[in-house]
Parts: sequence; structure tokens; C-alpha cells
Amino acid sequence: MVESWLVELMTTYNEESYTGREAYTAQVHLPGQVFESLVWWALQALPDEILVGLDIDSETPHVEEVDLAFSAQESTSNLFQGQGYRIKEAHIVNRGDSYSVHHLPEDWTDDMFSSSRGSRAGRFTHWLHTHPNAPAIPSGADADAAQETAGIDMILGLRFSPEGPLPWFDDVEGQRRRVGKEAVPQPTKARRRSFFQRQQLPVLGVAPSGHKIHEIQLIAFHKNGLGVNVVLVDEEGYPYGWSQFNDHATSEA
Ligand SMILES: [Zn+2]
Repeated sequence: MVESWLVELMTTYNEESYTGREAYTAQVHLPGQVFESLVWWALQALPDEILVGLDIDSETPHVEEVDLAFSAQESTSNLFQGQGYRIKEAHIVNRGDSYSVHHLPEDWTDDMFSSSRGSRAGRFTHWLHTHPNAPAIPSGADADAAQETAGIDMILGLRFSPEGPLPWFDDVEGQRRRVGKEAVPQPTKARRRSFFQRQQLPVLGVAPSGHKIHEIQLIAFHKNGLGVNVVLVDEEGYPYGWSQFNDHATSEA
């Protein structure tokens, strides 16, 4: 089962995916269970970033009414490999810094994969990598790596503490999407405020690794630079919070 605080965040995220749907040319449905694993793995691998390969389930297309509700008026079909199918599972294939994380170790690239398939090989449909204590905004290296992706690329940005060697780095331009609200330091009532108290951020939840999570960001994009709308779905393929904005959808019609 997905932790309840994550379910709440995913509901908020889906509401924004729904209201902002016209800004996206395509959508991808990511199960909450997989999303939760990604967050835990990201924190277990600190201070490294991780590169995760994502497989789709070719037996399981998006639930049609959900796909319709989240479609923009001008959406593109056949934009990427695996479009229209739910993501099924995730595998960690590499860890490293923001550059090395994109280059697979040799055992992933020799024999099985021809060199023409590039540094990431062609094993998975979609790829996701993490930005520990940094927003989910693609760097130049990220955009380059995405050129070899048959499906889409995703970035999971996390703000957490204790920070270890990675203080929150926010000096990046670009469009970001929070899962929930921005982490804003809260005023503390303590009369003598220590440095740490001054920095106190709201805690969304605590990971199995013991890290306090303050903010989660998740984006998806196609190699041509277009944003892809992410819908976080339950085991049946319906978005968390579906009943809320489904009512809204029918009343608008
Ligand atoms: Zn990156």
C-alpha cells in the first residue's frame, strides 16, 4: 500500500495535471506504487543521483475515460514509444553524479546492445533520474541524454533533510511541478531560535531511510522539449482523487 501522505500529495498533483492539461501535448500514467519506490530509492542512493529504466505494460493501455479527461484539445498521438500504455515497473540501472548517471556501466552496453543505441542503450522505454535536493528541471546533460530515449524522460526532484553533503540548490531556471506545495520555512515559536530552527521546513513525510521529505517535484518531457503530463494512478489505472475532478469534468461538459 502507498503511504497515505503520498496519496494526498498525488491527489493534489493530479488536480494540477487535470487543470493544466491544455499545456501538454501528451500524457503518461504512472502507478503510485512505482512512484513511491522511486522516492525511497532516490533517498537510499544519496548522495548519488540514480538512473531508473521504466517499462510499460503492453497489455494495459490507459483507462480510456481517464485518458480522455486528461487529454488536451490539441494532443499528439504516436509522439513516443509506449504512449497510451501504463508504466509497469522500474529498475535502477545506474547511480552517479549529474553527468555520470546518464552513462550506463559496460555490462549494460556490451553484447546485448549495439553501440549505435547510444550511451544508455535501448533497454527501456522511459527513463527517470533523480535530483537530490534540487528542483526537477533538466540540465544540458539531461537534454542531451534524452535524445536517445524512445519513450519519455522524467526527473524526480526531492527536498529533504538531513541534507548531508547536498544543501538545497534552487538557482535553476525552468518550469517546475511540485507534488503538493512548495516547502516554505515556517516561523518557529521558540524564543531562542537556533540556526536549524530558523531553517525549519514543513515535513510531508518520513522515508524508510529516515529522511524527512519537504518537497517532491516530478516532470516528464519528450526529447523535442515538449512537456508530458504525468497522471499518478492506482492499481486499477484511475488517478488518485479521480472522483473529485471527474465530477468537475462532467459538469463542464
Ligand atoms: Zn539531471
